[in-house]
Amino acid sequence: MLILVNVEWRLIQSSPKANSLLEAQSRSNQCFGFFFAQITLNWRLSQNPSPMTQTPEFSERVLHWFDQHGRKDLPWQHPITPYRVWISEIMLQQTQVTTVIPYYEKFMASFPTLESLANASSDHVLKHWSGLGYYARARNLHKAAQQVRDEHNGKFPDTLEAVTALSGIGRSTAGAILSIAFQKREAILDGNVKRVLARFHCVEGWYGNAKVQKELWALAETHLPQHVASQRYADYTQAMMDLGATLCTKSRPNCEQCPLQEDCASFKTDTTHLYPTPKPKKALPERSAIMLMIYRDSDIFLVKRPPSGIWGGLWGFPQFTDLEAACSWLEKQGYAADSIDTASALANYKHTFSHYRLTIHPLLIPYQKPHSVGVMETDESLWYNIDEEFDGGLATPVQDLLETFKELTR
Ligand code: SF4
Repeated sequence: MLILVNVEWRLIQSSPKANSLLEAQSRSNQCFGFFFAQITLNWRLSQNPSPMTQTPEFSERVLHWFDQHGRKDLPWQHPITPYRVWISEIMLQQTQVTTVIPYYEKFMASFPTLESLANASSDHVLKHWSGLGYYARARNLHKAAQQVRDEHNGKFPDTLEAVTALSGIGRSTAGAILSIAFQKREAILDGNVKRVLARFHCVEGWYGNAKVQKELWALAETHLPQHVASQRYADYTQAMMDLGATLCTKSRPNCEQCPLQEDCASFKTDTTHLYPTPKPKKALPERSAIMLMIYRDSDIFLVKRPPSGIWGGLWGFPQFTDLEAACSWLEKQGYAADSIDTASALANYKHTFSHYRLTIHPLLIPYQKPHSVGVMETDESLWYNIDEEFDGGLATPVQDLLETFKELTR
């Protein structure tokens, strides 16, 4: 009987699927009968109190790989502080390390402390985010810095509850901050980790689905190292991010170099290309907008967008859904009804958001009426001289169109 118990235990250990305990149990019921299955279940529970499969070697292998190959010279790793880790984690959402590094360094030079960020103007913060996209991240970062200043006496909190209560910080980002900066045993589930776990366990279903998310979180927690020095929690988090970014890449994972290859379910079944299950395809809706680039010599007229929504708080050109709305706005500014006829159309500019595609029709319009009532400077609008540095946030299309304008006027 002891031999059979051992067989069952090895079955459990070698199966990488999260539900393999139950599968193994079912197999044992069929093969050896209910009496034996009951004994093995008791044995398994005494070894493994979690309902999930525990693979102790998983974290050991990942940590061993990290010691040899992990990234240890990233700018936010020297020195490691909660503030520096937090800024890097927010910048790294949806953005690759190589893109983030110059932004991060510039951001840190301007806002070296949490207090300096909390006390900065939103224009100044957004200026440092220009070009990184997903500007809600910058607005939330600014707000969260003020929350820490006002609600935590400027000291970054160190509990999952308090960190996730900060603006713009979800569970995974909180896990990264707590494990890396505070060396706590917290799991993360960013895009890289999701990919590794989905492949390692052949997790079916798109991870935007709540049920799949739940399964992945449970797996992420199951694989956390146990009984290690607290520094290893930080190493493990970094290791999982590095593994996903450098080996278990979106296309063509480098399984030959992977420390998890031996037990990776998708590698063993030659199905790495099937995992993670892609997001169900849905055609993005198409939208269009008119942008009026009103200029006089080297000055160009900009307006500030509302604080929330697309490009919230950034500066841009007056924007309209159609020509009729653009003409009506121009008339209100004191332009002749047919002034749009003097406009020169620049090439259309296409920009893709996560939920729709926007075609921008930029129209260059010379400023016609120096003494008209309109296109005046206010808190929400200004004339920007293109030869000077702009102290505010600009969305990528606006930056690109300003570059085009500069080339045209040289
Ligand atoms: S073996 Fe390949 S698919 Fe599996 S975790 Fe490693 S890199 Fe990813």
